[in-house]
Amino acid sequence: MRFSQLLLPTLKEDPAEAEVVSHKLLLRGGFIRKLTAGVYSYLPLGLAAVRKVEQIVREEMNRAGAQEVLLPMVQPADLWRESGRWDKYGPELLRFKDRNERESCLGPTHEEVITDLVRMNIHSYRGLPLNLYQIQTKFRDEIRPRFGLMRGREFIMKDGYSFDSDEAGADATYAKMYEAYQRIFTRCGLAFRAVEADTGTIGGSFSHEFMVLAATGEDVVVICQHCDYAANLEKATAQAEAAAAGDNPLPLNKVATPGQKTVSEVCEFLQIPAESLVKTMIYLADGQPVAVLLRGDHEVQPVKLQNLLGALEVVLAEDDSIGRLTGAPAGYLGPVGLEVPLVMDAAVAGMANFVTGANEADHHLVNVNPGRDFAPDHQGDIRMVNEDDLCPRCGGKLALTRGIEVGHIFKLGTSYSQALNATFLDQQGQSRPFVMGCYGIGVSRTVAAAIEQSHDRDGIIFPLPIAPFQVILLNLTPKDAEISAEAERLYRELRQQGIEVLLDDRDERPGSKFKDADLIGIPIRLMVGKRFKNEGLLEIRTRADGQTREATPAAALAVIREMVANALEPAAPA
Ligand code: ATP
Ligand code: MG
Repeated sequence: MRFSQLLLPTLKEDPAEAEVVSHKLLLRGGFIRKLTAGVYSYLPLGLAAVRKVEQIVREEMNRAGAQEVLLPMVQPADLWRESGRWDKYGPELLRFKDRNERESCLGPTHEEVITDLVRMNIHSYRGLPLNLYQIQTKFRDEIRPRFGLMRGREFIMKDGYSFDSDEAGADATYAKMYEAYQRIFTRCGLAFRAVEADTGTIGGSFSHEFMVLAATGEDVVVICQHCDYAANLEKATAQAEAAAAGDNPLPLNKVATPGQKTVSEVCEFLQIPAESLVKTMIYLADGQPVAVLLRGDHEVQPVKLQNLLGALEVVLAEDDSIGRLTGAPAGYLGPVGLEVPLVMDAAVAGMANFVTGANEADHHLVNVNPGRDFAPDHQGDIRMVNEDDLCPRCGGKLALTRGIEVGHIFKLGTSYSQALNATFLDQQGQSRPFVMGCYGIGVSRTVAAAIEQSHDRDGIIFPLPIAPFQVILLNLTPKDAEISAEAERLYRELRQQGIEVLLDDRDERPGSKFKDADLIGIPIRLMVGKRFKNEGLLEIRTRADGQTREATPAAALAVIREMVANALEPAAPA
């Protein structure tokens, strides 16, 4: 491709609307343009990067035995009613009526459609296992579309769905997909981790998210610094603290704590560490109040709380409603005598002789003990892991880091096949529901995540496997016939050798060519200028480290071939 003919409208300034670096650089580099909130046009460079990711995804899905299909984007409401999701999905599902008043929606995901396809066409165990995927535009009417390709309303996803005859088969398929995802993101040239993810309340299921590690990520990822344990914050657990159960329960005692409400105030007033205090927080679980008991220095993880209670939603109660909900004053709540169901965090179960509120203004209780002084209605791990915690597997130090979710694999079990009555006959002639899995990759988000992970103040630094071009060839003196002839010759030769090259043939100053090349992040820059005329030498510069070397044309081509081959080689053998 020639720069002079390419639709590549680069911008000098950062667009005001863009908050994160990938969004800024995708706009400035002329990769995308916004049509309306969360909806973007892909220009040639943007599409080229997307196609690179798609191709890697396609190759690895095919290698793992999955088959590509393309499902409709418009889906009938009736199918969503059958699965029960028409009412549950909420406003992210864009619903509309066609001219015959039939209710429809734009597909945000395709479990219903694929399950329908398979139930209509597979009737026997002989057709299993079956693993189908597509790469397609999805629509989700996100409440806050933002960050460009990171969270669009319209975006490109690879979604795959597997059908097995039993749990063991489904587990084996899941393992294959896990492998395929490892290969995909490795081949894309990304630093990532597969992390254990929350599965809500679907029984027998498990799930991993694939997170590109980047400081700007929306998700917090907990990783062990010693073993390969990694989980997202909604799921991460910590090694249990040694129980203090051996401590003798001391007599319960009420003390005056006038005006001392917060954990730090009370701890300072009583001269105790936060680890010796249990705080009581009121949550509304599907509208019903519950009192959550946590060690003073711990925080609630709402998704864990939600799962423990089997609730659809938990929210922290407003301060001014606490008196009405509990009959006790905010700031002085405690479990002893409280007329609200008690939910005790697992860490509190191991504590003894702790301080709590007394359910009476300006007073706390000391030497409170579970069992003797109160009985929890629910007990389990509901707290957020923090930097001080130890790995639940190996006891090593945990670290919290940020990530961008680019992929998600999920063992669904039979939840959809049962709801949609999708069954097959097993070897004994028994009718059984398919055991399913689903596997998503945010294709357009992966391009953005790569940029979040890899850029500098001059622009994008694309990993070569997903760069729109592998090489940018700069003709630094287009007015010079000899130099231009050499640039044209190199351009031809590179393409003949299968190298993807963009020739900057514009009549521009070298400085502005360098700037654009850096901005759009092409990994290898090959330059033809006066040095060639005087000494027969070209310059090769690598975008990632800025290293420049000189070489004759023949040597330069050999170096480039090798760089490209090395970058494309998958890390793991086939
Ligand atoms: P998120 O928590 O970020 O909203 P999700 O759990 O809704 O993601 P899935 O339904 O698992 O996502 O979709 C599969 C993949 O599609 C995600 O891993 C993500 O990479 C991508 N994706 C989801 N929503 C968007 C979006 N609004 N814009 C771009 N990519 C998205
Ligand atoms: Mg979402």
